[in-house]
Amino acid sequence: MSEKTPEIGAEITPGAIHFEDLGLSKELLKGVTDLGFEEPSPIQAQAIPFILAGRDVVGQAQTGTGKTAAFGLPILELINLRSKKVQALVLCPTRELAVQVAEEVTSLATHLRGISVLPVYGGQSLERQIRVLERGVQFVVGTPGRVLDHLERGTLKLDNLQTLVLDEADEMLDMGFRDDIQSVLDKAPEDCRRVCFSATMPKAILALIKSYMKDPEFITVTRKEVTVPNVEQIYYDVRQHRKSDSLCLVLDTQDFNKGIVFCSTKLGVDELTTHLLAHGYQADALHGNLSQGQRDRVMSRFRTGGLDLLVATDVAARGLDIDDVDLVINYDMPFDVESYVHRIGRTGRAGRAGRAVTFVTPREAYKIREISRYTKADIKRAQLPNKREVSDLKTGKLLGEVMATMEDMREARKDSKKLDRYTLLLQSLTDDESGEVDIAAALLKMLIEREKIWPSPEELEAERREQEEMRAWQERSRQDRGGFGGNSRGEGRNWRDRSERGYSAGSERGRDGQGRYGQERDGAESGQRRGGAEGQRGGQKRGQQRDMQRLFFNVGSKARVTPGDFVGAITGESGLPGRVVGEIEIHDRFTFVDVPREYAEEIMRVMNKAQIRGMRVAVDVAKPME
Ligand code: AMP
Repeated sequence: MSEKTPEIGAEITPGAIHFEDLGLSKELLKGVTDLGFEEPSPIQAQAIPFILAGRDVVGQAQTGTGKTAAFGLPILELINLRSKKVQALVLCPTRELAVQVAEEVTSLATHLRGISVLPVYGGQSLERQIRVLERGVQFVVGTPGRVLDHLERGTLKLDNLQTLVLDEADEMLDMGFRDDIQSVLDKAPEDCRRVCFSATMPKAILALIKSYMKDPEFITVTRKEVTVPNVEQIYYDVRQHRKSDSLCLVLDTQDFNKGIVFCSTKLGVDELTTHLLAHGYQADALHGNLSQGQRDRVMSRFRTGGLDLLVATDVAARGLDIDDVDLVINYDMPFDVESYVHRIGRTGRAGRAGRAVTFVTPREAYKIREISRYTKADIKRAQLPNKREVSDLKTGKLLGEVMATMEDMREARKDSKKLDRYTLLLQSLTDDESGEVDIAAALLKMLIEREKIWPSPEELEAERREQEEMRAWQERSRQDRGGFGGNSRGEGRNWRDRSERGYSAGSERGRDGQGRYGQERDGAESGQRRGGAEGQRGGQKRGQQRDMQRLFFNVGSKARVTPGDFVGAITGESGLPGRVVGEIEIHDRFTFVDVPREYAEEIMRVMNKAQIRGMRVAVDVAKPME
């Protein structure tokens, strides 16, 4: 640990703690850097030292706070890589979360040699999981039913368990996993450390903590009083895969001189800067990888008006002293309310007008509500501009410039009493057939085409189709999720609650009065536990009750992709719940993924622009095998 290692439990000021101060090995720090994280989130800065010190920890934090790395990093640090026994177990409420957690942990552990992380969840072949477990795995992430299933079969052993984590504990209890969780806790060794993350702390969670945890340290991200600057605040609903295009539309319709665009990681900053430059914006990147010299150059260009946009991480923008920023864009949502307030405080300084714009993807809808509630700010939802609006604005601007130039030329002519070179040139072009109007129209045409000010009919048609699809999509998703864009606690919770119950019968069975989602959840997990075979009930496999379309992806096991990569990418790009993804069959060089037919086209469309494990993928409808 470095000298700056925080006193355990000391109050953490943003920016005061660096990853290097937390007592993590250089391999893990490299993993963190590769992911582009610049500094620990508040929950990470607090939780990591406690978990490393061997304490039981209870963290009150929800998704989007960086909680996964908050427990993932110290657990990885403590794992004995020479042993292939299971040393860490994380219980999660849904298979999407299990997959996400396993992915993030795997990414963080990229530079740890010999680490093996396995997600285990209902709906995936037991045999496959057993094969991997037999080979030796140190870090297991799973849903309670499936984990218990493995424990009862003896295919998962906890004799060497060091750390047991309950992730989204309140959610697991809500979903009726209490008995399963208790059984797992009972089977864990007495001396293993226990960590519990939960967004809320209802009595049932406190009771669980009291019975199963030893003198736990309670961590919560304390809220300091914040003064919200008096700037206009708006937000746009955006889709993850359209964010960079949406940003261009927004920038084209905002009147601003200097803007800062915030991204959460260094990688994000670099990618977005490249995109903006390619689209003709005067933008540059500011993040922690720059040398002092590079940083000074960027800042000097920004100060003197040589740049319109600074694309920055929170860390890099901290301490920036510029008074005339009139636009702040939260391209990625900040971790917490303080950071939101801090970012938007970059504008509207010294009595100037300022505007803050926030992009909100469906998964982040809860965050903007929380920010608005906590800051009591009126953050208005706005409709993203469309291509026609942008082109009308640009045309208006161009004509305004033409008029202003004409005015200047008229004045100059009055002074010099001579015709200028341009007018002489124009006169040389006019003849019987073409008058000044024809020539001026031709010049405008050239300008408008060169600057690509008017979208082509094809582009307009593509946008119209996309908007139509988006509306239909939102409607279907709303029905599928019982609310689009909600969080696990809000309107959107139904999709999550149902997420492990497969498609069985397609009906919405309620709780059985004891808060348990009886039959359906059991169908996906416990049912298999009892019967052993996949999809006991009716002999149907997951996904087969619905009209499914098999898709072909051009990546396979040679590219080291996992089923989680596909579920993660499809849900992340499309905003659909992970449960719509059916069977996944990974071959050497390609993969088949079953998705509901009604979503197939949209999934192909978004995935054909997306990446899996950093690789661009090509997706098509799978041809039936001969
Ligand atoms: P979580 O709350 O664990 O679901 O994390 C939310 C998102 O934040 C994930 O995409 C993480 O990869 C990302 N993240 C976690 N920690 C950091 C960090 N220190 N800096 C930037 N991004 C982070």
